[in-house]
Amino acid sequence: MEAKLLLDAKARLGEGPSWHAEQGILLWVDIDGHQVHLFNPKTREDRSIDVGQQVGAVVPCASGGAVMAAKHGFFKLDLVTGETEQIFDPEEHLPANRFNDGKCDPAGRFWAGTMLNRNHSVGALYCMDKDWSVIKVLDQIQISNGLDWSPDHQTMYYIDSPTRQVLAFDYDLSSGQISGKRTVIHMPDGHGEPDGMTVDAEGMLWIAEWNGYKVGRWNPASGELLDVVNVPVAKVSSCIFGGDRLDELYITTASVDLSAEDRVSQPLAGGLFIVKPGVQGTRTYTFAG
Ligand code: CA
Repeated sequence: MEAKLLLDAKARLGEGPSWHAEQGILLWVDIDGHQVHLFNPKTREDRSIDVGQQVGAVVPCASGGAVMAAKHGFFKLDLVTGETEQIFDPEEHLPANRFNDGKCDPAGRFWAGTMLNRNHSVGALYCMDKDWSVIKVLDQIQISNGLDWSPDHQTMYYIDSPTRQVLAFDYDLSSGQISGKRTVIHMPDGHGEPDGMTVDAEGMLWIAEWNGYKVGRWNPASGELLDVVNVPVAKVSSCIFGGDRLDELYITTASVDLSAEDRVSQPLAGGLFIVKPGVQGTRTYTFAG
């Protein structure tokens, strides 16, 4: 399969997409551009909000607007006025860290992780519960990235990119507790580094490959690669299912750290791409707070 360009956004670090079903729009971020984007696939209109800091992920919020995981912690974001309001910064004592990828679980908790860089395991994975309280769940993380839940809500999948692994945990949806850590996929040589991830309705994992020019569909039961969506950009960062029937896979990419040569061979770096892979996704869960 080949991904089609949807928006030549020229984002520096396109990331963190989520589908806002109520409004029929894709929320996505440009981490290094400090932007939250609202893309309407029907009109192809893209509006962006400058949030004044790096922002790793944004999700719809049940009490209105959105919540985001950003450089300075968790924030509420008004999608109309662009106003932000800090909820909590669990890493105020680690000013060089920033939030990266995040997503809500099927019960409406917002999970998001932090990072410094690949040489330092000083990142962590946090969970913000429906009462807006934040707890640290995992530490010693290098680059906290993709996460999602199985269609039966009994498994949580998680990626710390430099490990090249996808971890799985037994998931207790009523408490949000994880247990039984194991590795379900080890990305072989010849692939990029696993980055953002989403689960489809059949329980298969769609994993964006940083420096891999693709999104792969993987079976977490066997660890096998099942299918590939080629993207004409090396730094493929994340993906999410959207559209009225959740049958469209939206893919974000980045243009950071490209050489002059790379820029010529990847003119669409930083663009937003789409493919209809012939399978439906699981939905984007809304933060319940
Ligand atoms: Ca990422």
